[in-house]
Amino acid sequence: MPSMAANNFSRNTHQNQTKGDFVSRKQKIEQQRKNLPIAAVERRLVEEVRNNDTLIIVGETGSGKTTQIPQYLYKWGFCRDGGIIGITQPRRVAAITVAKRVAEECGIPLGQKVGYAIRFEDVTSGQTKIKYMTDGLLLREALLDPYLSKYSVIIVDEAHERTIHTDVLLGLLKNVQKARSKSINGVVNTDHNNSNNGHALEERVDNQNDGILKSCQVKKHNPLKLIIMSASMDARVFSEYFGGAKAVHVQGRQFPVDIFYTHKPETDCIDAALITIFQIHLEEGPGDVLVFLTGQEEIESVERLIHERLRQLPECSRKLLTFPIFSSLPSEKQMRVFMPSPAGYRKVILATNIAETSVTIPGIRYVVDPGLVKARTYDPKMGVDSLIIVTTSKAQALQRRSRANFLNFCSGRAGRDGPGKCYRLYQESFFEKLTDSTLPEIKRCDLSNVVLQLKALGIDDVINFDFIEKPDRTAVVNSLWSLYLLGAVTEDNKLSDVGRQMARLPLDPVYSKALIIASQFGCLKEMLICVAMLSVESIFYAPREKLEESRNALKSFASPEGDHLTLLNVYRAADEFFQKNKMVHSEEKAEKNLRKWCKDNYINSRSLKHARDIHSQIVRNVEQMGLRVTSCEDDTLLLRRCLAASFFLKAAMKQPDGAYRVTLSGLIVQIHPSSVLFRAKPECIVFNELVHTNHSYVRNVSRIDYLWLVELAPHLYAVQD
Ligand code: ADP
Ligand code: MG
Repeated sequence: MPSMAANNFSRNTHQNQTKGDFVSRKQKIEQQRKNLPIAAVERRLVEEVRNNDTLIIVGETGSGKTTQIPQYLYKWGFCRDGGIIGITQPRRVAAITVAKRVAEECGIPLGQKVGYAIRFEDVTSGQTKIKYMTDGLLLREALLDPYLSKYSVIIVDEAHERTIHTDVLLGLLKNVQKARSKSINGVVNTDHNNSNNGHALEERVDNQNDGILKSCQVKKHNPLKLIIMSASMDARVFSEYFGGAKAVHVQGRQFPVDIFYTHKPETDCIDAALITIFQIHLEEGPGDVLVFLTGQEEIESVERLIHERLRQLPECSRKLLTFPIFSSLPSEKQMRVFMPSPAGYRKVILATNIAETSVTIPGIRYVVDPGLVKARTYDPKMGVDSLIIVTTSKAQALQRRSRANFLNFCSGRAGRDGPGKCYRLYQESFFEKLTDSTLPEIKRCDLSNVVLQLKALGIDDVINFDFIEKPDRTAVVNSLWSLYLLGAVTEDNKLSDVGRQMARLPLDPVYSKALIIASQFGCLKEMLICVAMLSVESIFYAPREKLEESRNALKSFASPEGDHLTLLNVYRAADEFFQKNKMVHSEEKAEKNLRKWCKDNYINSRSLKHARDIHSQIVRNVEQMGLRVTSCEDDTLLLRRCLAASFFLKAAMKQPDGAYRVTLSGLIVQIHPSSVLFRAKPECIVFNELVHTNHSYVRNVSRIDYLWLVELAPHLYAVQD
């Protein structure tokens, strides 16, 4: 909740600056840039990039790698031949905030020379030369442009995070680099130029006018410079993977950080974090606080509790401002964490592990680390992909600690008043038991999406693909099996026509397939809404102190058929409200009224806005694919049959004790209390999500008839005796 204090704060932003302020801000930024450790080695770094086609740059977080290196390369002519510099980030937030920062450093509006692109949002233009994007997005671009020909340099940033997309991208870029250097000598790599990709490339070239066609061909013959950037000191794994590529280290500036542990294990992390935050606020010297939490819900409840406790303090001790940062937060709000705190105020930043290495927030002196993180895990035996809260690795704990490093040098002031402090909310003996580093994501998540994309890129033999670290064979085989069941690959493991269509959609394969099936059922209009709503986090807002009111609000949308229809009702009601408002008000006012409507109805307006954006993007996608967007109007039976036909991989049957048995894996689950079917407990359900806390719960559940599964997914279901 933005407090009064936070509002005061935003008045200090550069949006309301006078010309004089602007000049001084520009000078200040210039000064900050010069002060960064990386500035001292600018020329050397540029030389290294010039001399090495693949270079690994290792540097401590905050040294200036992400914001500065692309600017250096641009300045020193790496875009001269018309190519652009692409920088991938594992996280959307990093791509957005860094692009904004760099545009500001360059003194230009975002979206021109400097821009960013993430799934469902493209803020670039024909002029863009420095493009920040997510690693997943660059992978998608490769589907349309297998040579990634518009890039002269690609920087894979935060490679140490080893997200699944980064890992796949590394393998792909290795191929692209080889193919591009071969094509310089007139040899086009035919392995890579398979019919599908070749076709996509031709299409693209055909559509260009002559001038662009020429530059496209020129670009195709340019070698690709590859830079792998990592905050982990161990560059060996990347260097070996790229045939002994050179690695350079950028020295950071480490300040001492004192570490504190608890005396006994903490049972309530939120409470422990709150106590620590207030202890720092009331007893410690100046400096901002960074608290690592596991997700949006936890962040929002800690923020609320901080404000509650602040109200109990005497007026003079209330000078504390809270700033949340997590991936689904709107980007204007994300940027607020970077603003310096007004004189006398202390900032408390409540962050997910986004703030571990991807974004560096200046001014942090105190770090509160409960030692937990939300991570994807995958059980290949059960075929279950889920998000669970796990303990961090030692490497993560060290990164978190090092965030207490940058009190003054980034904010332009020299020296600092004393060491940073890191409060680990666990015992020292517990730290010793943590694993050294985090397992790469490719080892712990469902691979269907990646396998589908690799196949669409013409890489058929996924098991033998040159991964930096091979995924488990069972996981690959399982994903091939589910892709086969979805009709995306044929019996001999080749991509089918449906699979090719599915790969074109920026969605999970199951959702892509749902859209294709819905177009056949004549309910694509409804399914587009369901998929958009399923793609965002928590649409419903149920604060603990208003549980009763929020439950009542939900009742007006609830459908006895299940959560999918309930989500559809919410979307339709919101849309109707918005359209009516737009007829009499400006768009801006209609948006504002919609936010109020959301608040009154206990709907999370951020999530709804996100769902509306996703919806318009996927409507465009399906139209481009030539799918017919027809509506089934109020035929909910038809829609539920379509849900059964789409989500048959996740069906479950009620057991005598009221629990459910997932038909394919045999896993025993419960319907999540947030589901509209929690009490109704129908005989047979399909669901989209499985969450593990103390029980295994399924969320986003709809009531179906078992016989529909037999009829619509006969390859898996038979009539039961
Ligand atoms: P690295 O990639 O090496 O971790 P960055 O290039 O991200 O470092 O950051 C360099 C410096 O720029 C950091 O010290 C950080 O404080 C500052 N910085 C980065 N983004 C912003 C921003 N949006 N606003 C203000 N300062 C920023
Ligand atoms: Mg960085």
